[in-house]
Amino acid sequence: MIKANKQAAGLIVFEGVDGAGKGVQSRALHKAMLAAGYPVILTREPGGSVSAEAIRKLIVEGDTERWDSISELLLIYAARRSHLQETIFPNLEQGTWVISDRFADSSRAFQGVAGGLGLELVEQVHEIVVGQFKPLLTLVLDIDPTLSLQRAEQRGDSEDRFEQKGLQYQQRVREGFLQIVKDSEQTHSLIDASQSIDRVQASIKEVVSQRLGFEL
Ligand code: ADP
Ligand code: MG
Repeated sequence: MIKANKQAAGLIVFEGVDGAGKGVQSRALHKAMLAAGYPVILTREPGGSVSAEAIRKLIVEGDTERWDSISELLLIYAARRSHLQETIFPNLEQGTWVISDRFADSSRAFQGVAGGLGLELVEQVHEIVVGQFKPLLTLVLDIDPTLSLQRAEQRGDSEDRFEQKGLQYQQRVREGFLQIVKDSEQTHSLIDASQSIDRVQASIKEVVSQRLGFEL
């Protein structure tokens, strides 16, 4: 059964510091939307297309000093352009919803705020690469980085370059996200991600249902 959308398909984004639970929660929302009959794909950044996944490895693995913030920003936007052209836009045009684990707010919070480039510089690159396109809804999973870094550490994979930048860097990332939500409350929602997986999932379902009119 495929349900008729109450509105044209859009992009739903999960944001937050490393270990906040974006992977777990984006998979749960994807599953819930599919079960409710909505056409939807799950994707992620950096990555989400063949070329962007190749760039992902360069960005999220290896030594923290491998790239400075400006190089990170340019690599990420090269990946984002491929992700939009190969995956996000074609799906939205077909009426398929897209859930992405991270999108442009991560560039704002990581490279713009925590990395010290400033939001204005990120917006300049964003304008060139992305233009006016915006996610319909962004869920920012908010958590104290002392807790999220423990979670991320337990996961124990090799994609830990940003985690390795340390607690203070992650705290600035969190501040960046909090500022973004404050400035865009129409399109963003702050979720308390310190609770259990089930409770966070319930909050997310409620917000998505209220804001987008879904029956989940
Ligand atoms: P992210 O994608 O934001 O970095 P993940 O979804 O990969 O975070 O979660 C990081 C780790 O923490 C995983 O091992 C996951 O199972 C665990 N985790 C996620 N959410 C919670 C939660 N609410 N409570 C406890 N552990 C969690
Ligand atoms: Mg993740």
